[in-house]
Amino acid sequence: MTEPYADTDTRYSYRSPLVDRLRERGSVQAGRLLLLLPQKFGFCWGVDRALAMVADARRQFPGRRLWLLNSIIHNPRVNADMLRMGIRFLHGPQAEAGALERMGPEDVVIVPAFSAPVEEMEPLRARGCEIVDTTCPWVIKPHKRTLKYIQEGFTTVIHGTVGHDETRATCSLVSHAGGQYVVVHDLHEAEALARYLEGRSAQEDLRRALHPSATLPSFEPRRDLHKIGLINQTTMLASESRAIAARLRAALVRRDGEDSLQEFFRDFDTICAATQENQDAATEVVNERPDLFLVVGGYDSSNTRNLARVGDAEGIPSYHIEGPECIAPALLRHRDRHSGQLCEQRDWLPAGPVAVAFTAGASTPDTILGDVVRRVVEVAGEALQHDAALRGHGG
Ligand code: SF4
Repeated sequence: MTEPYADTDTRYSYRSPLVDRLRERGSVQAGRLLLLLPQKFGFCWGVDRALAMVADARRQFPGRRLWLLNSIIHNPRVNADMLRMGIRFLHGPQAEAGALERMGPEDVVIVPAFSAPVEEMEPLRARGCEIVDTTCPWVIKPHKRTLKYIQEGFTTVIHGTVGHDETRATCSLVSHAGGQYVVVHDLHEAEALARYLEGRSAQEDLRRALHPSATLPSFEPRRDLHKIGLINQTTMLASESRAIAARLRAALVRRDGEDSLQEFFRDFDTICAATQENQDAATEVVNERPDLFLVVGGYDSSNTRNLARVGDAEGIPSYHIEGPECIAPALLRHRDRHSGQLCEQRDWLPAGPVAVAFTAGASTPDTILGDVVRRVVEVAGEALQHDAALRGHGG
């Protein structure tokens, strides 16, 4: 089903000629369907770079065992391709039991774009493994900032998701540098933190509101929330990060007064440019008020999950799907944004003329988006045939 790209080379490509053509046009009429694509979507610079570094490592270390520390990016198809290329996994669902004990200087370990916890890196260095570090420079930015916070005596407040690879790495860095952190996932958790800062709730209320692993076991709210510095996991919803920063700033103004803010509060926007651009472009396409908004990407991809929330503000029916296999004529399998559960939506495609907007997360290959577009057109009983069909838009 996937359309191969003619110029695939050793740095194998996930490009799709269909998506390239749609990208040029922005919108396409296919029978009763109007297909809308944002100006920016899909693979970001950091993912492109990580995949290029994997290809380089395969060339540079022929005959040596290649390992991925964990998923290279949050997309199941791309990780399955890694396995097919003979790259093995040290952690995560594909991990080989006992592999770490057998590692040595001949082994080459690739660190994913999200970076990795210190405790996963140390044993590999101790065993003399060759390390290929694909950590995205945008991920290094919050790392540097948080080390500065620790030097200045600030506790790091991370707008992120407990357990997400990037936030795990950041928390590990803070812990090993002797600092403290608090992970707040959303405005609701930030509100609990703000109320505690304002002296309007007890520390037990704060602990109850946060994820059990949102702080280190040694975290003491009374001692550790004197000075706070904010960062974001790079792929969070930018508008929510801004709202959280504003709420925490207001709480400290209430606690310490406006004049003392500089002494007790730091705010640093570490949302990456690609995430911001994809969210802005998704907002634009949703503002065209399509009948449906399909967001394509791995269910564990943070930036894809947040793209799926963009449609909420405009009340557009929005669905996060992993690929074309989620789509049947009368049934759409998707991840519910609120519960995080996989569920099914019946009669998801209205009859008659329908405008369907698409976007794809930063870890979603164009080939998967292309397959999704084809599948939607197919279940709608329409056809999308090469340039003849694409010329339909705009006359
Ligand atoms: S989403 Fe942003 S931080 Fe993550 S790999 Fe892409 S560019 Fe880097």
